[in-house]
Amino acid sequence: MKKIGVLAFHGDVVEHIEVTKKAAKNLRLDIEVIPVRTKNSLRNLNALIIPGGESTTLHKLCQRENMWEDMKRIKNIFGTCAGTIMLAKTIHHKTLDQETLELMDIEIDRNAYGRQTESFEKNIKTSLGRMHAVFIRAPKIKKAGKDVKILARSEREIIACEQKTGDNYYLATCFHPELTSTMFHEYFIKKIYQI
Ligand code: GLN
Repeated sequence: MKKIGVLAFHGDVVEHIEVTKKAAKNLRLDIEVIPVRTKNSLRNLNALIIPGGESTTLHKLCQRENMWEDMKRIKNIFGTCAGTIMLAKTIHHKTLDQETLELMDIEIDRNAYGRQTESFEKNIKTSLGRMHAVFIRAPKIKKAGKDVKILARSEREIIACEQKTGDNYYLATCFHPELTSTMFHEYFIKKIYQI
């Protein structure tokens, strides 16, 4: 049985766990979904989901728990919002000592839409299908390298993308798919199972 971890310091942890379970059920797959707060619980994971929240805080807490290097070694990672910031090679407007996992060849601008009050919702079209998307103090993906496949744009901005690097697979969204749909989670699970 495959095991998916959800980084569980803050953000939409419960929502991601529930949606991942629902997505697995829709695909008739038996998957264990666990909250991850320690280096130990990263062991034997087939995949990790990094929820939205605050990327600076997530970075600090992962460092405190000495999880950083082990996270980089996880084969399949799905980042949403702050999770996408964590995956990016380059961030604009980062705090002084903020680091990212530098796993995806994307350049991202934190809080690019403005403050919390500038958060918004809209219907979007993605390569996976149409859905309603919630953007909460969302980042903008400013640039994507040639190995990054774009899965959705809103206006001209890239809002969802993926990258396969050897055996590793990364999926990233600027919005919060866990709030409105199982579509991205099903897609991620299919990638893990290579179906
Ligand atoms: N802009 C936030 C950050 O810098 C992310 C917001 C979110 O995850 N909803 O981490």
